[in-house]
Amino acid sequence: MILDGLKIANNRNELLKEKIEKEINEGLKKPKSVIILVGNDPASKIYVNSKIKASAKVLIDTELIELSRETSEQELESLIEKLNNDKSVDGILLQLPLPKHLDEKKFINLIENKKDIDGFTIVNQGKLFQNIDATYAATPQGIINLLDEYKIDVKGLNAVVVGRSQIVGLPIAKMLIDRNATVTICHSKTKDISFYTKNADLIVMAVGVAGMLKAEMVKDNVVVIDVGINRVDGKLYGDVDFENVSKKASFITPVPKGVGPMTINALLENTYKVSRLNNNKK
Ligand code: NDP
Repeated sequence: MILDGLKIANNRNELLKEKIEKEINEGLKKPKSVIILVGNDPASKIYVNSKIKASAKVLIDTELIELSRETSEQELESLIEKLNNDKSVDGILLQLPLPKHLDEKKFINLIENKKDIDGFTIVNQGKLFQNIDATYAATPQGIINLLDEYKIDVKGLNAVVVGRSQIVGLPIAKMLIDRNATVTICHSKTKDISFYTKNADLIVMAVGVAGMLKAEMVKDNVVVIDVGINRVDGKLYGDVDFENVSKKASFITPVPKGVGPMTINALLENTYKVSRLNNNKK
């Protein structure tokens, strides 16, 4: 069965829009986020545009600030500071990757925690690891939302997460542990990944290698979540050999239309959440 991320995300976005619409009628202001895009990475532009489009659909205002590749540390720092102090701005998103001369960790952590809709600051990541409510990273949150929507209970499952990034692999592993899965994390130095995936009831692929998970690496009835987005000859592929793995899986996400739309939905839900914590009146 295909886990239809696009359909679920659309449903959730519609509910979010209705909630915001009602609140606007009751006198609350529209949530507002600012996206900072430094340089002109083509993939980043595509992501940013889809975030802006999706925001507009749910009545979230988005302002895009585009800065040149040559932006200095001081310029970016003072922009983030200005947005932190701007009461009309609920959420700030710094699109990654940044040009090499700008230290991503430093600038992410300049963002006020309450405005960190990506859930990437040290404090918000720490809150995830201490089970304190916060804005959590959108991709792992989106995956959990998708599993919940399909009523897939991960309790007691052997889960294997391939990839250990700060924004996907590590937080999804923590979220799965919190839901009582037994989690193994694999990465580029893991000796024999199929040793782990063959025994897995649930696999999350977050690597960035097209078609890496093959049918012979999984057992029957596995649940497969494919986070990867790989462009090959202008076409999008996930980290899973979808055609063959889908024949064995009980549930599987497609690429595109799987985790991607759920990530954007989680980001919109984060923006709504921070805006209502600010309790902004018109
Ligand atoms: P990173 O590059 O930060 O992390 C990749 C991880 O995969 C690392 O932990 C790395 O291991 C591991 N890895 C790389 N090559 C191999 C290999 N051959 N075997 C085993 N492990 C390997 O990527 P992200 O986590 O940011 O993203 C992963 C993928 O998900 C990308 O394709 C990205 O585009 C996509 N993505 C999709 C999103 C969506 O909304 N659908 C959102 C975010 C990302 P090591 O740590 O040892 O280097």
